[in-house]
Amino acid sequence: MEPESLAQRSRAPTETDLPLEEVRRRILAELAPVSGSERVPLATSLGRVLAEDVHAAVDVPPHDNAAMDGYAVRSADLPAEGAAELQLAGRVLAGERREAELPPGHGVRIMTGAPLPPGADAVVIQERAELVGEAHVRLPGGVGPGENVRRAGEDIAAGAVALGAGCRLRPQEVGVIGSVGRAEVTVHRRPLVVFFATGDELRSPGEALAPGQIYDSNRPMIVAALRRLGVEVQDLGVVGDDPATLEATLHQVGGYADAVITTGGVSVGEADHVKPALEAVGDVAFWRVAVRPGRPLAFGWVGQAAFFGLPGNPVSAAVSLYKLVQPGLRRMMGERGDLAPVRIPALTAEPLRKRPGRAEFQRGILEHGADGVARVVSTGSQGSGVLTSLVHANCLIYLEADRGDVGAGETVHVQPLEGVQL
Ligand code: AMP
Ligand code: MG
Repeated sequence: MEPESLAQRSRAPTETDLPLEEVRRRILAELAPVSGSERVPLATSLGRVLAEDVHAAVDVPPHDNAAMDGYAVRSADLPAEGAAELQLAGRVLAGERREAELPPGHGVRIMTGAPLPPGADAVVIQERAELVGEAHVRLPGGVGPGENVRRAGEDIAAGAVALGAGCRLRPQEVGVIGSVGRAEVTVHRRPLVVFFATGDELRSPGEALAPGQIYDSNRPMIVAALRRLGVEVQDLGVVGDDPATLEATLHQVGGYADAVITTGGVSVGEADHVKPALEAVGDVAFWRVAVRPGRPLAFGWVGQAAFFGLPGNPVSAAVSLYKLVQPGLRRMMGERGDLAPVRIPALTAEPLRKRPGRAEFQRGILEHGADGVARVVSTGSQGSGVLTSLVHANCLIYLEADRGDVGAGETVHVQPLEGVQL
């Protein structure tokens, strides 16, 4: 069934495994932002990457204003100690503007966000004020200039770059763009990413399983991850373990996609045809990373498209996606910077098994004990087919390549799977 030469080729000895960090660097160095940009309304800009610097046309905030409800005063009118009585000179609410200068010895009732009247330089909070009759207020002394005042431009000065090109827009960036008054922004075009799973044993969810078959979990998982990342996804479904079909499919999608991602068939088994197919119709830049899970990973080019061949085991596919594909796609989406993951130290609550040689990402549960110390435990079986380990985990435990077994109480570094998200 299978051409002999192909089987031999796929079993041929290969180069040594590349260190994970080197693979990451090479992927980031080889990939560039896709060309093309578009103008989008702020309301639909979430997850996009800025293709322009967004300058502030105005100061943010636009005027000095009260940070609290209270009384706007000239701080010099109040003594260093004790208290003083000031005459009331009206009221200013948010959205209003009082042009008249605050006369010395007077205070103005002011609400949060209202512009400070000219002459005033501080706000005394209302909880510390005591009304005396209708027209006077007793205020404590010791109020410095600028107290409870938000200065014009203290967040963003007019003319400054509020957000730079290459910035991914999270809700808070969308808010900042709003704060400078912009209703539209120019963002990079979304890369078109084509995905297909490979494997004769795969059936799609909803279909009936025959003996020897399994449900395809990579395809829904990876398509979901790509959607969340914000690329445009074309889902080609499952392609069988057939060299000619794989070559034809790769050749075709290489003609229009920005990136192609596959799972399965990238190792050295007799039905692993992805790497030879890529060699036939494109270029393999490298494969095999000194990491576990996720050692087989082919990276290269087919036509105009970057190619990522991920392993079939679902946990391996997920970890490879997170570690190597996501940074690459984020670069293609236009993001700048080194896109390095956050790693935080934690103590192991139990020993972890680890063989020296490859970096490992074990699935872990990070908890803060009553003593406030972050401790991490393994989710249990670290089999690369145990996808529920990623459901139970709230972090990946990163163990350096040269590290061996880890004892309880040792320091390891973890990468939270979900950070703080607005
Ligand atoms: P492979 O990388 O093709 O050798 O596959 C390694 C293991 O992952 C095998 O047990 C496959 O059956 C399994 N596998 C491959 N693709 C998928 C998929 N899309 N969903 C679930 N399991 C898969
Ligand atoms: Mg396979």
